[in-house]
Amino acid sequence: MLPGSNQEWPGGLYTPTDGRAEPAIAAPEMARAAQRRGAKVFTQTAVRGIETTAGAVSAVVTEHGTIRCSTVILAGGAWSGVFCRNLGIRLPLLSTIGSVYRTAPVLDAPERSVSGAGFAIRKRLDGGYSVSHGGITNFDIVPDSFRFFTDFLQLTWMARKSLRPCLTERFLTEWRQKSSWPLDQVSPFEAIRTLDPRPIKGTLDKARRNLAAAFPAFKDVEILESWGGLIDATPDAIPVISPVETVPGFFLASGLSGHGFGIGPAAGQLAADVAIGAEPLVDPAPFRYSRFTDGSRIEPIIGI
Ligand SMILES: Cc1cc2nc3c(=O)[nH]c(=O)nc-3n(C[C@H](O)[C@H](O)[C@H](O)COP(=O)(O)OP(=O)(O)OC[C@H]3O[C@@H](n4cnc5c(N)ncnc54)[C@H](O)[C@@H]3O)c2cc1C
Repeated sequence: MLPGSNQEWPGGLYTPTDGRAEPAIAAPEMARAAQRRGAKVFTQTAVRGIETTAGAVSAVVTEHGTIRCSTVILAGGAWSGVFCRNLGIRLPLLSTIGSVYRTAPVLDAPERSVSGAGFAIRKRLDGGYSVSHGGITNFDIVPDSFRFFTDFLQLTWMARKSLRPCLTERFLTEWRQKSSWPLDQVSPFEAIRTLDPRPIKGTLDKARRNLAAAFPAFKDVEILESWGGLIDATPDAIPVISPVETVPGFFLASGLSGHGFGIGPAAGQLAADVAIGAEPLVDPAPFRYSRFTDGSRIEPIIGI
């Protein structure tokens, strides 16, 4: 049932294993733990936007129906900026492309994760390795690159030695993307269900050569698969975990700036504390959204 209504929910309720044997992967395990504590997880269910009443959040509108509520946390990763735009909220986010490949099993190679000059490796359960470059930051030039040009100038300058811009089909895709849409029509999140950029071959080739130079065991190893992922970042590379004052009830937990896998659990806890008004885990001030709107000096803490 759709919460708060009599409608059936056509989107799949998160089922623990779908009958498949599956290793204990972190994100699904966290989802299961949340379900055990009463959370409801709906997959294949795009959120089109939120409804407001007298300016405050009153519902989440999904492709399958509406959920009445007074508090919403947007944790949409690289989609968060587009989502906010439909609400008239300017969230400066840009994405870089992370590229990774995995190898067949390798003998006589490090058991531990290693980060070296132009490569980073982590051993997998099957004896193969996940490999990335680590020292190159590829990014697409997209319409948001111009929209947020000045916001990101300082971070771009700091990270200039590692940055490698490229122009891909994503420019046109995002150029054509609607910046606002009515909630009873298909949203950009349904038009593209998964952001799945092509890995950057040149970067992976370099990682492969660097790795083989450091560890000859990798010299002729077979590459089984490669993939890319978008990494959303804010202008100071600090997440936004915060209310948006102009829309009461609307909170952001986005822009984890390449560290979301590590800091995700704590970011989630802080977002929950902030949203329900509990004593926060840490001082939430550095994560406030208003630093981008109140003239605060933006000071990047790292290069991306
Ligand atoms: C190749 C690569 C390597 C990385 N390595 C590391 C690492 O070693 N350590 C580390 O800490 N981090 C790493 N990261 C970064 C990390 O994966 C991200 O920071 C993290 O996933 C961000 O979490 P998130 O929850 O904010 O966003 P996401 O993980 O992107 O999750 C957002 C979710 O919201 C969904 N969504 C968005 N909009 C809607 C909508 N309108 N309706 C419904 N659903 C929606 C999306 O489908 C997605 O499932 C890496 C990233 C990549 C790509």
